[in-house]
Amino acid sequence: MRGAAGRDGLLRGARGRDGQALGRGRVLAMEDDLRRRLTARFGTSDLGAVDRAARRPGPISVPVRIHVLTSGRDGAVSEAVLRRQVGALNAAYGGRDGGHATGVRFRLVSTDRTNRPQWFHEPERLERQFKRALRRGGAGTLNLYTASVGSDVLGFSTFPQAYRKKPVLDGVVVDYRTLPGGSFRHFAAGKTAVHETGHWLGLYHTFENGCEQPGDEVGDTPFEAEPSEGCPVAKDTCPQPGGDPVHNFMDYGWDECMHEFTAGQGRRVRAVWAAYRERAGGPDRGHGARSVGGAR
Ligand SMILES: [Zn+2]
Repeated sequence: MRGAAGRDGLLRGARGRDGQALGRGRVLAMEDDLRRRLTARFGTSDLGAVDRAARRPGPISVPVRIHVLTSGRDGAVSEAVLRRQVGALNAAYGGRDGGHATGVRFRLVSTDRTNRPQWFHEPERLERQFKRALRRGGAGTLNLYTASVGSDVLGFSTFPQAYRKKPVLDGVVVDYRTLPGGSFRHFAAGKTAVHETGHWLGLYHTFENGCEQPGDEVGDTPFEAEPSEGCPVAKDTCPQPGGDPVHNFMDYGWDECMHEFTAGQGRRVRAVWAAYRERAGGPDRGHGARSVGGAR
């Protein structure tokens, strides 16, 4: 069972394709929340204006804490693979895979390993348990868990809007076989973590809402009726201008076919960061690189 039917399940317990998992009502509510947050802080919810007002001297630097769940030797990926995964995040978000640089970079501050077969095999059902035990840092820390998620659902993540009510659940979970060099054919270049981290940073699927407004709330990703599968050269499923963004990280194509974020997605990520993750939980001053069950 190589062919992954869908990349993630965004709602707890969601299975298979998650294209319909959010729905227009939920997207509108989340957007409402975002606009209110931005207006409270910057006096505007215009993303370009927010970007200028934020006046960041350099890229947003996101501390990453990776939690490896295992069942004996199953799932026991090497430290080198974890570093390659962070490298894949930096290549994607830094524009080095072909798209726009988003102004976000990632630095690995700790890794830890937990041999709990139940957590490893049932990460969706037992999410609360292992996150409660392992999660560290505030709203600005990316907690990335690896486990046996499955080949239908490759990973799942939380949106920034959920942090306030459920901080302990904040983070990204991916199947360990999607890490660079993993065994999932076409899905083993670390792009699942890139995609899920996109949700963690506030991006929707490029096919969110299909051809209907508000789409994915990003102006320069053309509307798309449905997820892309495999590696299409091009397709155009909506009447609005522009072909489907088949190579976008927030679509569902194979890893080797995903290589871009757009300028608009970068702008959105930076604004969402300002609204929800910047300073919200205090800085994560983790220095214990790769400590096992480290000091903090
Ligand atoms: Zn997704």
